Amino acid sequence: MAGPDSRRAALRADCARCVGLCCVVPGFSASADFAISKSPGTPCRHLRTDFGCGIHDRLRAKGFPGCTVYDCFGAGQKVAQVTFGGTDWRDAPDVATQMFAVFPIMRRLHELLWFLSDAMALPGADDVRGDLAEAYDDTERLSRLDPDQLVRLDFTAHAGIVNALLDQASRLARAGSRHPDLDRRGADLVGRDLRGVDWSGAMLRGALLIGADLRRADLSGADVMGADFRGADLRGADLTGTIFLIQAQLDAAIGDATTRIDDTLQRPAHWSPTRDGSASRPQPVPSASRPRRSASRTDRTGRRRRG
Ligand code: SF4
Repeated sequence: MAGPDSRRAALRADCARCVGLCCVVPGFSASADFAISKSPGTPCRHLRTDFGCGIHDRLRAKGFPGCTVYDCFGAGQKVAQVTFGGTDWRDAPDVATQMFAVFPIMRRLHELLWFLSDAMALPGADDVRGDLAEAYDDTERLSRLDPDQLVRLDFTAHAGIVNALLDQASRLARAGSRHPDLDRRGADLVGRDLRGVDWSGAMLRGALLIGADLRRADLSGADVMGADFRGADLRGADLTGTIFLIQAQLDAAIGDATTRIDDTLQRPAHWSPTRDGSASRPQPVPSASRPRRSASRTDRTGRRRRG
């Protein structure tokens, strides 16, 4: 079993080894996240012939913040190089349909791998570490199936097993925290004033925190898998030890020098380097905004490294 660093390295997007799948496969509607509409399976008008993005350094300014917070978890290069052995879909239209069908499945498998890797590293999760490692190996094996097997895969059944394990790991890791029984899973907290809340160790999985004011909130050790932090104000908030927090969630939020995060995550470039957050920061997403990308909910999370 590989260590956490090598596991993570394999699950980071490597656009140079992909064929622009995230700019072709998902569809999206014109919204606060995307300046234009695009049908699934059609290349974005900004996709270059070398599969780079023609507006990579201006995505936010051009109205494409949704692209800056998308992460394939390394599924793109796996599909391009492993599943389809380096085939360029433009040269093989007969392959393109199958490749486009496989990509979302692979992305979901890789997302599970990412969270399993995170869970294995959680302090307090010793009782399930062996089961998590086994699930990781099973998921990795599934990701190497051939295209026909992948499109027939019962992903829901596999994800159910994995998610139950992730739940157990989270519960164990949060057991010693201040609020392990506080459950805001999937709560609609869009635009709410949550300044200074103490949700240390709480369950916030899938909570809608779009545009919420979380200044000085204590989210340390909370489970935030899939929580939507777009435009949330995290200035002065404590996110150290937060469980299942991914870079894309931070990238979608507002923060500054007083936002506390773990060293394994990067302080987003658009966060203010000062205390007051007066320097550049993204425009908060209107509170009425909802995901409009036609891929799955979690497809909105993650980071794009295209250029
Ligand atoms: S990253 Fe660029 S090419 Fe890809 S979908 Fe976004 S705007 Fe289009």
